[in-house]
Amino acid sequence: MNPPVYMDYNATAPVFPAAAAAMGEALKIAGNPSSVHRYGRGARKAMEDARERLAAAIGAQLPAIVFTSGATEANNLALLGTGRSRILVSAIEHDSVRGVSPTAELVPVQRSGVVDLAALERMLGADRRPALVSLMLANNETGVVQPVAEAAEIAHRYGALLHCDAVQALGRIALDVSALGADLVSLSAHKIGGPAGIGALYVKDHVTLKPLLAGGGQERGRRAGTENLSGIVGFAAAAEIAVARQPDEAERLRALRDALEARIQAERPDAVLFGIESPRLANTSCVALPGIAAERQVIALDLAGVAVSAGAACSSGKVRASAVLGAMGAPADLAASAIRVSLGWQSRAEDIDRFMAAWAGLRKPSLAA
Ligand code: PMP
Repeated sequence: MNPPVYMDYNATAPVFPAAAAAMGEALKIAGNPSSVHRYGRGARKAMEDARERLAAAIGAQLPAIVFTSGATEANNLALLGTGRSRILVSAIEHDSVRGVSPTAELVPVQRSGVVDLAALERMLGADRRPALVSLMLANNETGVVQPVAEAAEIAHRYGALLHCDAVQALGRIALDVSALGADLVSLSAHKIGGPAGIGALYVKDHVTLKPLLAGGGQERGRRAGTENLSGIVGFAAAAEIAVARQPDEAERLRALRDALEARIQAERPDAVLFGIESPRLANTSCVALPGIAAERQVIALDLAGVAVSAGAACSSGKVRASAVLGAMGAPADLAASAIRVSLGWQSRAEDIDRFMAAWAGLRKPSLAA
């Protein structure tokens, strides 16, 4: 059998060999970055070098980077740590944003998958309590890119802070956090070729943040706990590689993705592609095959050695109809037949052939059978 094909980069990406090698070296460092002796100083130096390299890769000032256990923690820290009495989140945010506050208000998105900025402005104007707005830079299911700079400008006019989950954007589109206008930005290493379990929150200097965890004073009092040094080093190495390659890699992946979508449209005219009229990540395709449950498609593809995902909400192994597609106005049965194909650094043209060979012939289950 042919080797399996991985087309699920928005869930997690294979680790770059150079990031793994950098982590291996970091694991040899014995010290705790908080210790004053030479071992501790060595560990601290490795950590601060990594912080500097990550900051340079995203256009950030140095003290602005707080390392966390991933973007889930970074999102929680942003939404809860700022202590704002009112939280507005777009209707297409990841669960690690949507699930944080039971009183969060949902900002609608348009059918295109782009947030409704006029609605955001109306909502902010209707209630003058200090607010925090959370809007992702690129959606994990559709890849649709959001107008974050415009949203930040609106938020600031109403005295609100703007938090941006940029997890899916890092290494996929140009990202300069200073130009983005956001006050807080969440990042994760494992979507870009770094390890899982390490992320960062970029915090602009005017924002005061209450830590979520009680403990030591690490990360300038913003995140207690001994730092994950090898993870931090692997994150910085991966970010440097992903950001340096980004413009060429995005063009390469766009060509593959567009070829995939052209074949989908030619071979399955009944298929529905989401977000294609909007600015989109070059690596992502979200496609529904009406009448064929997403789970069935994922299993059929897996049997053929092709790994894709059914929406995003599959962390427990179960698939729920996508809230993102629902927020874009897709009927529940159509959303339940949508899969996500996401490409990355190991993707090749042959992967598209393998996908089409396994997927294009899928038919509705026959009632007679
Ligand atoms: N935000 C988005 C948009 C994501 O896609 C993910 C990962 N599924 C997260 C946040 C959570 O990141 P982590 O896995 O690092 O906790």
